[in-house]
Amino acid sequence: MEGTVAVSDAPLPARAGVRFRDLSVPEGPLRAGLRAAFERVLDHGMLLMGPEVEAFESTFAAYCGVGDCIGVASGTSALYLALRALGIGPGDEVITTAMSWIATANAIAAAGAVPVFADIGDDLNIDAETIPPLLTTRTRAILPVHYTGRLCDMQAIGAIASANGLRVIEDAAQAAGARTAAGRHAGSFGHAGAFSLNPMKLLPGYGEAGAVVTSDPELRPRIEAMRYLGTVDREICHEVELNHKMDALQAAFLIEGMKCLPQIIERRQQIAARYAAGLADVVACPSLDGPEGSRPVFFDFTVEVAERDRLREALAGAGIETKIRHPILMCDQPAYRHLPPTPVPRARQAVARILSLPIHEKMSDPEVDRVIAAIRKFHDAG
Ligand SMILES: *Cc1c(COP(=O)(O)O)cnc(C)c1O
Repeated sequence: MEGTVAVSDAPLPARAGVRFRDLSVPEGPLRAGLRAAFERVLDHGMLLMGPEVEAFESTFAAYCGVGDCIGVASGTSALYLALRALGIGPGDEVITTAMSWIATANAIAAAGAVPVFADIGDDLNIDAETIPPLLTTRTRAILPVHYTGRLCDMQAIGAIASANGLRVIEDAAQAAGARTAAGRHAGSFGHAGAFSLNPMKLLPGYGEAGAVVTSDPELRPRIEAMRYLGTVDREICHEVELNHKMDALQAAFLIEGMKCLPQIIERRQQIAARYAAGLADVVACPSLDGPEGSRPVFFDFTVEVAERDRLREALAGAGIETKIRHPILMCDQPAYRHLPPTPVPRARQAVARILSLPIHEKMSDPEVDRVIAAIRKFHDAG
């Protein structure tokens, strides 16, 4: 019946296939740390804005090399609050990429502004060269997405922004830990950066969570008020906002998750290198290098292949889960079809060819090799 949940203690059947993600937490230091964090929060009982929220904020700000971090309810909230706190709203246009998860465009629209979709480059990130033709007198900001965990060309984007007096808000939801050779982190290039910390992302929470990072000291008080119904001192309401708070349990879990982030990134980079070595001659693989000497953190390993749908079926037949991330460009979503169209030929070509392969830190080398072998077999069969 709709709405009922079947609960059973029977063990789940062992899965023979290669899973796209594996969000389970095996026994080990992380699981022990999560359990201890849970106990601590239960002991003190400050479940909503407990001390863990501030502790997580200062840990993550230091990690990203920024002045401040504000913990919020989700990556979508983080984007929305960053835009609102920077004064972007009705009458404004925000230039973003055509290819991202719909949360990017929805945050812009929810703030009251209009998303304007630029084209992408071969790295699947916004192509800075396609931004200038989209500028109008209403353009207020550029919102690049470090898609798949790969940094955008922030030098080119920053140059366009400063020449035109625009704000830059980075959607770093997929890119926690991505940084240039000089150590500059995703989220630290613009006026504000937004992270999603949900279990699918690089720095995983164990539910919904997000964060805004910034080095603008004026943003913290504004976002702190906005994340709790627009109130100052939690009682005086100056502006209408909804509830976007991060809870203490998520913050406590995220502090534990931070300890694993370097290993998560390293393992994903190893898997990406193994995929690239095994596949580069048969499908278009993402580059292992990003701008300014950066290395992508591989939220996704997305290949491009003409026979994408047939390949996806063949892999499913071999027990290998893949994803098309995402099958509909943001500008083509029914919610945005009323907007004047912008030319996005490369994004249109890519959306028919992209396929994200399984990549997660629990994947073993034999599992990676199984994916490689299945793709090579498909290729050799023509
Ligand atoms: C996940 C994601 C978001 C939204 O984050 P939530 O925490 O799910 O709200 C925004 N942008 C991108 C690129 C994402 O991948």
